[in-house]
Amino acid sequence: MREGEISRIVGSVIVASGIKDVFLGEIIHVGNEGLIGEVIRLNENSFTVQVYEQTSGIKPGEKVVGTGHRLVAELGPGLLTNVFDGIGRPLAPILKQEGSFLTRGIKVNTLDRNKIWHFKPYIEVGEMVKEGDIIGEVEETRMINHKIMVPLGTHGRVTHIHEGNFTVTEAVTTLENNGQKIEVTMKQEWPVRSRRPTKSRLPLDKPLISGQRVIDAFFPLAKGGAACIPGGFGTGKTVVLQQLARWSDAHVIVYIGCGERGNEICDVLQDFPKIIDPRTGMPLMERTILIANTSNMPVAAREASIYLGISIAEYFRDMGYNVALMADSTSRWAEALREISSRLEEMPSEKGYPAYLPDRIAEFYERAGFVEALGTPSREGSVTIIGAVSPPSGDFNEPVTIHTLRFCGVFWALDEELAYRRHFPAINWLKSFSLYIPQLEPSWNRMFCEGKKNLGEQWVGESRDFGELRKIALELLSESTEIESIARIIGESTLPDEQRLILITSKLIGESFLRQNAFGIDSYYSPFNQMLLLELIVNFYEKAKGLVKKQVPVREILDLPAISQIKRIKEDKDAELAILRARKEVNSELEKISEKYAVFK
Ligand code: ADP
Repeated sequence: MREGEISRIVGSVIVASGIKDVFLGEIIHVGNEGLIGEVIRLNENSFTVQVYEQTSGIKPGEKVVGTGHRLVAELGPGLLTNVFDGIGRPLAPILKQEGSFLTRGIKVNTLDRNKIWHFKPYIEVGEMVKEGDIIGEVEETRMINHKIMVPLGTHGRVTHIHEGNFTVTEAVTTLENNGQKIEVTMKQEWPVRSRRPTKSRLPLDKPLISGQRVIDAFFPLAKGGAACIPGGFGTGKTVVLQQLARWSDAHVIVYIGCGERGNEICDVLQDFPKIIDPRTGMPLMERTILIANTSNMPVAAREASIYLGISIAEYFRDMGYNVALMADSTSRWAEALREISSRLEEMPSEKGYPAYLPDRIAEFYERAGFVEALGTPSREGSVTIIGAVSPPSGDFNEPVTIHTLRFCGVFWALDEELAYRRHFPAINWLKSFSLYIPQLEPSWNRMFCEGKKNLGEQWVGESRDFGELRKIALELLSESTEIESIARIIGESTLPDEQRLILITSKLIGESFLRQNAFGIDSYYSPFNQMLLLELIVNFYEKAKGLVKKQVPVREILDLPAISQIKRIKEDKDAELAILRARKEVNSELEKISEKYAVFK
């Protein structure tokens, strides 16, 4: 046994010595209770361990035992529907065993050893298989078939495989390689701090559809991309993340509740199991894995939870699924880094965060991607990361927000003023951006074109690209901000008519398009309806602008019934019909004004 002794304890960090060949990242059992810790620094005659459980009561002189392995994630059937703590212990059995207070040092396997799964093979005896090949599957939940893959570094000829019932530790197939017998089980292990290898990385040109208009149409996220959503308390981070979990077209959701206040984690634990997957009518948990750091776990566990979550996400990606990972909130993780760094007496950098903060943030977000997985059959999968950031007092100029911004392709800036006005989602359209637009635009243009074709004769508008509409709408919104500041001084009614029209239109975009209630009929909007609705507003603007240019007074346009009709579209069950109806109305009302003022084309 590789045993040593604790010499010093500083909060969740301990210094120990006496284990020969101890290595960086090795998992250590700490103290008489055997708490779980990880070696984070090797000193001359000692080593430093961050402990993933409370260290109170532990004394110098108690033993430490080296396990010889790194922090690993146990991967296999039984992950979905479950809630784990930061180091992969399922919470349900712990709570059953221990009541509501967790005893330290408790060892519970991630995957249930007794549960039986029905395995269906994909291959036959005699075939050669190599790492990443899918050898069979089990129906993990009604929504997700769990593909069983040959573990990395393993290959050989199949000598035994059959359909049947197995636990995760029983061999589902036996391979032979150079006279050596290899048993493959459904359980694999993966060191959480390393990214899982792939055949190749693919371009990020497929949108992750969320059904949220401001996101999809203005600041879209690509499958395999990374998004950052910063916002102060109450600005709607959790609601956006939950909307994405519920509606986005990802197959599997990994949701990490990263050390927020205890009661918020409670909310997540209570809310999630109640969410119904709107597409299938089944509980969303059937395609979700929750990782929750309970408030009585020390800061170090927050760090582990991030890596555990991303490893599980990569594992499902390798099966050929699109996975969306949400972390709420990465600020708590960064604070954990800061706390541990100060315990290590490292030289602090900006705001006390360690100098390696940007590297850690980059390492995490770089694990997002759209990839071709290893092995046969050939398959593509993705991990999309959405990280919430909670900057203290909503100040985006703090290190975690700034560095996250550097490594993410999408920035959804939540705005306190919008949230105060109850304009939700409170995503500020002037501060947010998406770098994926050039890659995603062709696919949106295609969707728009096909949708219009399907409408047949019902479509009577111009055949414009969606990209063009987005550009016009964003320009109007940005122009209106300038006009508004002038209007505040001179009064809106004294503005030139063209500028007043811009104000009317941008208010219409804000009210009817950007604002979207997560809790009602408007919770999800299909991509095509989003495009139709924006087209309707831009079409209104352009036609009205033509009239205003020809001296028609803007007050004639201000009170058109069609404007209130546009505002009510969101409440309509049949969005497409409502938009097309409003479009006809807009055209005919503007036509009438044009006749009244005898404005000829
Ligand atoms: P945060 O996680 O940033 O502290 P929440 O996501 O909990 O904030 O949002 C706070 C409140 O704002 C919610 O309880 C809800 O009432 C309201 N809210 C946020 N987003 C929406 C939305 N899209 N539609 C309706 N209400 C929302």
